[in-house]
Amino acid sequence: MDYETLRNKMVQEQLISRGIQGEALLQAFLRIPRHLFIPETLKINAYSDFPLAIGEGQTISQPYIVALMTKQLDLTGNEKVLEIGSGSGYQTAILSELSKQVFSIERFESLAKKAASVLADLGRNNIQFRVGDGSVGWQEEAPFDRIIVTAASPKVPAPLIEQLKEGGKLIMPVGESYSQMLTKIEKINGKLISTDICACVFVPLVGKFGIKKE
Ligand code: SAH
Repeated sequence: MDYETLRNKMVQEQLISRGIQGEALLQAFLRIPRHLFIPETLKINAYSDFPLAIGEGQTISQPYIVALMTKQLDLTGNEKVLEIGSGSGYQTAILSELSKQVFSIERFESLAKKAASVLADLGRNNIQFRVGDGSVGWQEEAPFDRIIVTAASPKVPAPLIEQLKEGGKLIMPVGESYSQMLTKIEKINGKLISTDICACVFVPLVGKFGIKKE
C-alpha cells in the first residue's frame, strides 16, 4: 500500500478542504506515518475519514478532529504540553512535532506501552509517558502552557484548570456520553474564557475528576 499517497490525500481532502490551515501543522500531518499507530488488521483504513478501534475498547480519533484540536492549541514550538489519553500515541506524535515537550498520561498500560514504542521507533525524544489517571493531571510537571484531553467528561477536571499556566489554553470534549461539545478554555488574568468549538463524541474520561465508572 502506498501510505504516502494516502497521507497526502488525507491532508488535502480531510484537512485543507475543511479549512485547517497552518504550514507547520499541515507538515506535521504529512510527516507522521499514521498507519504505524493503527492495529495491523485496520491499517487499510489508517488514512480514512473516521475513528478506528485501537484495543481496550478505545479509539483513535478521526484525522480531522486531531487537526482541529491541535489547531485550537496555537502551538509555536516552545510549549510544555500535557495530554490526557495517549491512546494510540498519534495525537502525541503530532504534539511532539509542534511543541517543546509533551507529557502524556494513559490509563491503560497496554496502550501506553505500544504508543511509547512506536514513538521511540520514530525517534521522538521530547515525550514522557505516565500510566494512570490523568484527571488529576501531572502535578510535579505543572504548570503547563497547553492541556489537551482526548476523552470526555461532564466537567473539566479542577486539577487540570489549576495546572494550566496563566495565558494557557486547554481543549477538551465536555458533556455526557455520546454527546459532547469540544470546548476551549483560556486562562486570562486568572479568569477562564470558554469557547464552544463543535459537537463531538469521545470515549469517557474515567477517573477521580472525570466519570467514576465506565
Ligand atoms: N489521542 C488518542 C485518542 C485516544 S481515545 C489517539 O490519538 O489515539 C482516549 C484515551 O483516553 C483512551 O486511550 C483512554 O484509555 C484514555 N483515558 C480515558 N480516561 C483516562 C484517564 N482518566 N486518564 C488517562 N487516560 C484516560
